[in-house]
Amino acid sequence: MIRIEIDEDRCVGCLECVDVCPTGVIINKNNKPFVENAERCIGCLSCSYVCRADAIKHEGIHVEEKIVKSVYIEEKIERFV
Ligand code: SF4
Ligand code: SF4
Repeated sequence: MIRIEIDEDRCVGCLECVDVCPTGVIINKNNKPFVENAERCIGCLSCSYVCRADAIKHEGIHVEEKIVKSVYIEEKIERFV
């Protein structure tokens, strides 16, 4: 089972994770991202890909997908350096 946590201390409130989540797991609640119905998560990691603050943590996603995420974040950092 996949667990999703949003680190409120890191989150900058852009709500891009809400826009990209294809299954409505992350919703806009009072202009903050809120995880609802986590069992609907398909592990696509789109939310993490768009999160500039790296505030979204997942548990239970296959390790190769985490490597893809890491590579993506490194590329994202390189683009902004
Ligand atoms: S994409 Fe990241 S920073 Fe933006 S609202 Fe979602 S968790 Fe917060
Ligand atoms: S991994 Fe995909 S389905 Fe799961 S919460 Fe993030 S965007 Fe939504």
